[in-house]
Amino acid sequence: MILKFIIFTIVALIIYKFVGGRFPELGSIRKKRTEKKQIEEDTLVECAKCSTFVTYKESIIVGGKAYCSKECAGF
Ligand SMILES: [Zn+2]
Repeated sequence: MILKFIIFTIVALIIYKFVGGRFPELGSIRKKRTEKKQIEEDTLVECAKCSTFVTYKESIIVGGKAYCSKECAGF
């Protein structure tokens, strides 16, 4: 009976450690992804036509090249 209790306690501790160490890790990965997305959006890209630097989210990607405006992209 005591042995069962000890085993149960050890198993419970292992589960607690596993879960306890896992959750912050998942949280940090999610945070890193958010940061990475933020960096990508704020990354400056050079317009392939007029060499103006614009942020990635403001740029227009046509055929794998970044353009600063619709005029440069040829629309
Ligand atoms: Zn341009």
